[in-house]
Amino acid sequence: MRVKIVAGNWKMNTSYQEAHTLMEEIVGRKAELGLHDAKKVVLIPPFPYLQYAYSEIAEIENLYIGAQDCSRHERGAYTGEVSALMLQSVGCEYVIIGHSERRQYHQEHADILFEKVEQALAHDLRPIFCCGEPLDIRSSGHHNNYVIQQLYDGLFQLPTEKFVKTVIAYEPIWAIGTGKTATAQQAQDMHRMIRSEIEKHYGTEIGKYHVILYGGSCNAKNAAELFSCEDVDGGLIGGASLNAEDFIQIIKAI
Ligand code: PEP
Repeated sequence: MRVKIVAGNWKMNTSYQEAHTLMEEIVGRKAELGLHDAKKVVLIPPFPYLQYAYSEIAEIENLYIGAQDCSRHERGAYTGEVSALMLQSVGCEYVIIGHSERRQYHQEHADILFEKVEQALAHDLRPIFCCGEPLDIRSSGHHNNYVIQQLYDGLFQLPTEKFVKTVIAYEPIWAIGTGKTATAQQAQDMHRMIRSEIEKHYGTEIGKYHVILYGGSCNAKNAAELFSCEDVDGGLIGGASLNAEDFIQIIKAI
């Protein structure tokens, strides 16, 4: 059986006080989440709140803290950057790498992303590697090749023992923050394609167990349908993770 994961990416939202309230609401209802070894939740707040967030969940099994990005450098004179070692040292278990907003607004290209993946793994963080096509690529029908290329560039250079520590998040850019969700069939088709590509590259057993999340306007109403797809192993949730009730409903939908 594959592990299911719901991850909430808070992006650049919440003041410290708002983050505190959101954490308390989620943690206060932990019994409702039904977490176990094959159903995990990752909370991904902004950098300044990571240490606080970890202190809230440290004792709770299968609830983790992740970061939204990490530097491609190990340490040194890189003002404003946050290293994988720093994240690991404050309790992070996961880190998002290659989110489309980082690719678009910070010119993070394939070579940079692969360096970030390597940094994360070197410090025992699990990368949540994002891939996904823009609308014009979807419209032209080239989305499968586009996503495969992103995976080869950013992940598939890893040896098997490192690759198995990663999570893939398929996030069609046209569905992120737009309210426009991929249909369950579109999500399933892409996830199946990604899984067969993993099988080709790393072997059937590895492909069978690799976690592939869907992201893009996933909410309390559509989560159950998306998560019912055979190859969708959970979600990377943006906007809806900022509302405790919605986020909890999404977790319960899996
Ligand atoms: C995201 O940015 O990863 C995301 C999925 O956002 P939203 O859920 O708001 O579309």
